[in-house]
Amino acid sequence: MAILKNPSVDDIVSSSILLWSALLILVCLLGDVLCSFASQSLLLWRAVADNMIHGAVGVVAWAVVVMPGFSVDKWGQCLLCGLLASVIDLDHFWQAGSFQLQDAVSLQQRPLFHSTSLVLVLSALLWVVSLVFRLYILRKVTCMCAVAWLSHHLRDASRRGLWFPPLGSTPPLPYAVYIGGTVVLSVLMHYGYSGYYQAPSAQERILEVVPKVVVQ
Ligand SMILES: [Zn+2]
Repeated sequence: MAILKNPSVDDIVSSSILLWSALLILVCLLGDVLCSFASQSLLLWRAVADNMIHGAVGVVAWAVVVMPGFSVDKWGQCLLCGLLASVIDLDHFWQAGSFQLQDAVSLQQRPLFHSTSLVLVLSALLWVVSLVFRLYILRKVTCMCAVAWLSHHLRDASRRGLWFPPLGSTPPLPYAVYIGGTVVLSVLMHYGYSGYYQAPSAQERILEVVPKVVVQ
């Protein structure tokens, strides 16, 4: 008979974060393979595929942050993050002043919500407001918007660079920097986020999933 030691909460959390990060990399890579197939098709399908991949990356990026497990609430948050990552492309139509897709993709200048400066400044402001007024929900929304929009910007940046008005744009980022940057963003947010929202869920998960003693 052998008694196996239960894995610690830290062991479970770190193996989960590795798995979710690996899934995030997979979604980024497969998404772009899918988009390369769609590049032969109509403009509409290319745009839809590209936008759906932004959404999928947003979903999994937030999953790295909260590690949803079987929590319906956390999966809801992941879907919301995916939606936020997708909807910012609507600013193409806003900037074009037209609902025509051709107009939206033929802009001379990048649209407002693709400004990384704006997202960083807005996130910092909202974060300060949430701290000052102790608005828990605003803090969570700020983290989610930052992950959704910065992951979108990083993906776009592999083609067009990051845009930091009024300073200008970086050159297109190497593909590995986009993938690595997206993972680093999510993992850093995970640790920052769990610092504020000390997740009893990790403890709960271990109690639910791992038997106390395994007898052989
Ligand atoms: Zn975009």
